Formats: sequence, C-alpha cells, structure tokens
Amino acid sequence: MPDFPVDLYSDTITRPTPAMRRFMAEAEVGDEQKAEDPTVNLLQEMVAELTGHQAAVFLPSGTMCNLIAHTVHCRPGDEIIIEKDSHPVHFEGGGPAAHSRAGMRLLDSDRGVFGAAAVLAALRPDDPHFPRSRLVCIENTHNMGGGTIWPLERIREVHDAARSHGLLLHLDGARLMNAVIASGVQARDICRYFDSVWIDLTKGLGCPVGAVLAGSKEFIHQARRYKQMFGGAMRQAGIIAAAGVHALRHHVDRLTDDHAAARKLAAGLREIRGITLDAGEPQTNIVMFDIAGTGVPRADFFARLATHGVRLSPRLSPTAVRAVTHLDIPPDGIDRALSAIRAAVT
Ligand SMILES: *Cc1c(COP(=O)(O)O)cnc(C)c1O
Repeated sequence: MPDFPVDLYSDTITRPTPAMRRFMAEAEVGDEQKAEDPTVNLLQEMVAELTGHQAAVFLPSGTMCNLIAHTVHCRPGDEIIIEKDSHPVHFEGGGPAAHSRAGMRLLDSDRGVFGAAAVLAALRPDDPHFPRSRLVCIENTHNMGGGTIWPLERIREVHDAARSHGLLLHLDGARLMNAVIASGVQARDICRYFDSVWIDLTKGLGCPVGAVLAGSKEFIHQARRYKQMFGGAMRQAGIIAAAGVHALRHHVDRLTDDHAAARKLAAGLREIRGITLDAGEPQTNIVMFDIAGTGVPRADFFARLATHGVRLSPRLSPTAVRAVTHLDIPPDGIDRALSAIRAAVT
C-alpha cells in the first residue's frame, strides 16, 4: 500500500502495470552498447517511425536527451533560446552550463508558448561581442505552463523565424503524446519542424525508466558518442526498453482518461472558496492552482492532505500547487482528492 493512495505529485510516480512487468520479464535482450539488443532496437525503430525522423536512440532519462541534444547542436559559448520556466532552466542541475556549455536566452511566454516575434527579438547580431544564437527549444506540452499544448501554427511560425536565421530547433517532448492525444495532431506532423525531438517513457506513458531521442542519422550518430561519454550506454537494456514498447502499444490512447481526470479535478477546484485556477481549462494532464486565498500556508495544506492519503506538488512560487493525473490513480481518486482539498482549506 503506497503512502499516498491518491498521489497526484507527478505522472512520474506510476509503477509498471502487471502486464508491463510481464512483458519486461519476457523481453529478448542483448548488448545494447553493441546495438545487439533487439528490444532496444525495436523501441528505437518505433520512436523513429512515430516521430517521422530517420533514427532514434534509447537513453536513461529525458534530462540526458536534452543534454545530449544541446551538446550535439551547440558549441561552447553558443546561446540557446528557450522559455524561462523550461525544464533545463530549473530542473537539470545546471546541466546546460556544465555539459553543453551553452548559455540560455530566456523568453517570456503565455503558459509556456511564445511566438516568432520573441525569437526574432532574442536573436543576436553576428558580431564578436555577442554569443552565437544557435538553437531554439520548445517544450510541448509545457510543464510549468500547466500542460500547455503548442498550437501547430505557432510551432511553424517559430520554426520559420528560426530557420530564416540559420538556427536549429529542438523539441522537449517529455509529454508530447499528451499533446498528440489531446489535439489530434499526429506526432510526426509536430516533429517535422525540429532537428531533434524526444519523448519520455516515464511520464504519462507509465514506464519505470527511459526516454528516446530522435533525429537524422547523422544527429543520432553523434548523440551515441555523447551517450557513451556521459555514461548512458547500457547492456541488456531490453528489460527496460520493453516497458517502452508496451507503453507505446497500450498506454497512448488512454492518456485521454488522464485529461478527463484533470478537467474533473479543475471543475471541482473551481467550487472551492479561496482556490484560484490558472488561466483556462487544463489542456492535458496538469492542473495548476493557487491557494493564497484560503489563508492556509502551503506546508500545512500539504500536511493535511497527507492525512487523507493525498499528495500534490509545490510549484516555484510559494502558494502555487500542481496536480498531475496519470494511470495509477484509483477510480475514485479525483473525488477523494477533492474532498481532501476541501477539508484541508476549511
Ligand atoms: C520530466 C521532464 C524532463 C526530464 O525528464 P527525466 O526523464 O525526468 O530526466 C524534461 N523536460 C520536461 C518538460 C519534463 O517534464
């Protein structure tokens, strides 16, 4: 029995389902460093096909996908144009500075989404005083923005602006499949605007380990060298890659349930006095809200929820809270979360 039967802390807390565990246990394996693991190879082919890119590489984490992509695309001193609350800015332990040694030019946004004008305004002139603008990163869905989906039109606009100045584009698709399922736009139609893309297996897809980075053959060839250098090359990794194969077959369409659960949670939260929801309906599986109006300090709020077996997560600002829906929530989980939240603020 988990400590938090209703754990909305993140979609990363899911445990592999019994069917996933069985599939993992039976996986064919080989030496992944020698490209001899058939299950890893299959997963990579599936993600290349899904994203419409030539090749893909299985990596231990999404963080490593970002680090490797930044490192392949940038020379030290280059500048990455990226939204100010994106994952690499806050949550990768300073990795961009340490590994790719590229700087980051931070953009303001509307819930994580920016436009071509912001990119053009951030571009550096070709002058030795300035860093070289090199890469534009997009996070879709945008986590800190509240699971926001990037409209395809926006992606195209940012792509056109970036390309017309010779910049490359990278997609942090930790939750790309949430965007795909919620919008009905195919992954390959989104991914075609990027030089590199990746999906996380450990978010909504419910796997225990791993992420897959895709791009051109040449990009993936270079990415593999950094995978080795950063210590990310594995051996009989088919055991964990099998979870990804299973998830791509069985856990994608069901993301729609997580999105419905998020909307239900948001509708319930709107009825609770003192709680304010961030702009708009949740677009995917993330609900952002603020408890300042309840007068309950956040630490107390979380402690009270814990007594009901409910967990949520803190956001960057001190009264802000995030809830994330996923496949491990019990059927009555949203009702239980709402009654616990109601009790915690009264
Ligand atoms: C989780 C996440 C990452 C990092 O992925 P890990 O697999 O946890 O290393 C990167 N970007 C976004 C948007 C994420 O949500």
